[in-house]
Amino acid sequence: MENRIHNFNAGPAALPLPVLEEIRNSFLNFNGSGMSITEISHRSKGFEAVLNDAVTRTKRLLKLNDQYEVLFLQGGASLQFCMIPLNFLSQGGSADYVNTGTWAAKALKEAQIQNKPVKVAASSEDRNFCYIPQNIAFNKEAVYVHLTSNNTIKGTQWASLPDTGKIPMVIDMSSDIMSRPVDMEHIGMIYAGAQKNIGPAGACMVIIRKDLLDLCPGNIPTMLNYRTFAEKNSMYNTPPCFGIYTISLVLKWLEETVGGLEKMDALNRQKADLLYSFMDNSGFYKATADKGSRSLMNVTFRLPSEDLEKRFIAKAAENHLGGLKGHRSVGGCRASIYNATGLNAVSDLVAFMKEFQSQA
Ligand SMILES: *Cc1c(COP(=O)(O)O)cnc(C)c1O
Repeated sequence: MENRIHNFNAGPAALPLPVLEEIRNSFLNFNGSGMSITEISHRSKGFEAVLNDAVTRTKRLLKLNDQYEVLFLQGGASLQFCMIPLNFLSQGGSADYVNTGTWAAKALKEAQIQNKPVKVAASSEDRNFCYIPQNIAFNKEAVYVHLTSNNTIKGTQWASLPDTGKIPMVIDMSSDIMSRPVDMEHIGMIYAGAQKNIGPAGACMVIIRKDLLDLCPGNIPTMLNYRTFAEKNSMYNTPPCFGIYTISLVLKWLEETVGGLEKMDALNRQKADLLYSFMDNSGFYKATADKGSRSLMNVTFRLPSEDLEKRFIAKAAENHLGGLKGHRSVGGCRASIYNATGLNAVSDLVAFMKEFQSQA
């Protein structure tokens, strides 16, 4: 409708159409208030209900027990890179990081520039990050293990999370949060910039196990301390109101229209299988990630030449298929097929890819 294209952008990325429509319809008069959601006080009952709705839906969708707090911060996932070591390594101890690509490396760097003791427990740099390391020997004394569940740029994803025993995992789920159910057993914290899979840029979701809050020191800046946000239900200062509102609508769509994360996962697998199996049999398009490590969210691939890739991306855009250019650091092509990008978008993409190949 309304000239909307199939959107394969990596982030900011596609949002469910019913969510965008609901935003449009309520934008001038939120909930009978006579004001827009962007005009009301964050201390109003109306906004408080939105925030609590987003928290409640997150807890239900991920089946969180009451040990977890759901917070909304600003500064994107990138601010979390610095907050994690700042908060959790102030009382000594070291952390293990798994380096699976660009974002994982940035998370590691923010710990290193604070002179925090961190160790790279495993890395897939030896083969340009095309796989997820297995059978990792974590330091049993580590305060936390940091992972990136889905590597947005390199197109890999942990098929299942490692067993870290008593060590809490801290996981950057920016590009696969709410795409599948999560086994919370060894998870201390999850964080995600909203703009890939759950909302607009500007809000970062943080799910934190309460015992980790005890590690947060008193002598760091207030706005960088997780305890500040946990103690005030994310309202120490003005939270990213519009982002939280949109997240609440996306989560409502996930629960009420999609039917929960098992259903979302099944659909996401169907979408990814369609694309990968077509490419594997094409003799033309080549997925860049190893088979057991492929991302269900960001499908990265190459064509036989850079020139063909350029033509492919341009021709796709003419056919209302947008956002297929790979990240500027790696080149090639990438189809991001997040929750809101439907099976019809993927089958239209595959049809276009067949057509392009036949004419190349
Ligand atoms: C996009 C992305 C980030 C950076 O998010 P910002 O909100 O822009 O800081 C971090 N980690 C992953 C895995 C990402 O995909």
